[in-house]
Amino acid sequence: MTKAVFLDRDGILNEALVRNGKPFSPMSIAEVVIPRDVPDALAVLRRNGFRLIMVTNQPNIARGVQSRESVYAINRHLQDRLNLDAMEVCEHDNADNCDCRKPKPGMLLRAAIRDDIALAESFMVGDRWADIEAGRRAGCRTILIGNGYGEKSRSPPDATFTSLGEAANWIVASTKNGNKVMKTVDQLTVQIFADGADKAGMLEMYRKPFVKGFTTNPTLMRKAGVSDYEAFAKDIISVIPDRSISFEVFADDFTEMERQARRIAPWGKHVSVKIPITNTKGESSIPLVRKLSQDGIALNVTAMFTLKQVQDVVDAVKGGAPCFVSVFAGRVADTGFDPVPLMAEAVKMLKASPNTALIWASPRELLNVFQADDIGCHVITVTNDIIKKLSLVGKDMDEYSLETVKMFYEDGKAAGYTL
Ligand SMILES: [Mg+2]
Repeated sequence: MTKAVFLDRDGILNEALVRNGKPFSPMSIAEVVIPRDVPDALAVLRRNGFRLIMVTNQPNIARGVQSRESVYAINRHLQDRLNLDAMEVCEHDNADNCDCRKPKPGMLLRAAIRDDIALAESFMVGDRWADIEAGRRAGCRTILIGNGYGEKSRSPPDATFTSLGEAANWIVASTKNGNKVMKTVDQLTVQIFADGADKAGMLEMYRKPFVKGFTTNPTLMRKAGVSDYEAFAKDIISVIPDRSISFEVFADDFTEMERQARRIAPWGKHVSVKIPITNTKGESSIPLVRKLSQDGIALNVTAMFTLKQVQDVVDAVKGGAPCFVSVFAGRVADTGFDPVPLMAEAVKMLKASPNTALIWASPRELLNVFQADDIGCHVITVTNDIIKKLSLVGKDMDEYSLETVKMFYEDGKAAGYTL
């Protein structure tokens, strides 16, 4: 028996033409656009032993709005360009009550019998709920690319990605891993917050649904060239009004810190005020944290490195407003000390005060996101650089090795080295 990846056509192999938020099929080859990463993604799947089978609903034929010749010309064009092993086409509309129109699984079952395909080891990739449902009914694992056009999902996919390239990596990794399905970004329990103070970068992250919040600090704001603190903060809150966002006080004496905190707090519904755990003299901020929290101000107590500090904050905010407890696990790691047991212990301490959430701050690598998730840490603040590496999650190591070898070769060639 062989295994297959069933691929929807419009929105997967070629870009769907989206009008008013709804996807449409191209009407001619001239309208066919193959997304840039599709040929490579299919090559990865092929090399790993998957048969590539297109399964497409083409009701335009039954509806008489597009000729069969035109639909099949597009299909042949895709098959030639993408080297697909087989194509299954449903030419019907709902009224025909056929057994092949997705969400029915007929096309997948038909191909499975013909090509001796093990459906439980196979995958269905699509951009709409009907694709996912068809894959599920056929007994395959299912992958949604994109957001499903806001259609009500009657069938949750096993994984969701933004591109076929990411999906291909996940499929290969999942099968190599003794068929153990790897966690994808949307399956993580830890919430990802983006750390930064550059407006364009923050907006880029805001467009990613898995970025659940934002943190800033005076150092990042200075680096980003922010001169007017309040104007910048209010501008950001106006464009990112619905996700958690933290702004830090920058005074050093507690009276002034308190004044700043009370000024920052009302700027937005999701604003938390960041208070460093001490001032620069090393004097504890705990009395101020207690006062503000008990007055209903949401806080983010920051620059914490020790479990003693964690315990003090948990005690101070018990019964108060929501409070992030931000432990700088990455900086702890910089000292050669493993932050994982420390953070795991902090998670336990926070259980005593349900209004608290632990932040894994200053992570150094993507792996930290998974470490934080494993120990039940609530939030991890991540820079844009690390967030961009999320596209590598589950990447096949043989593929990655080959890409690395190619990089060395290309750079050596480009430099014109001779020996
Ligand atoms: Mg589609």
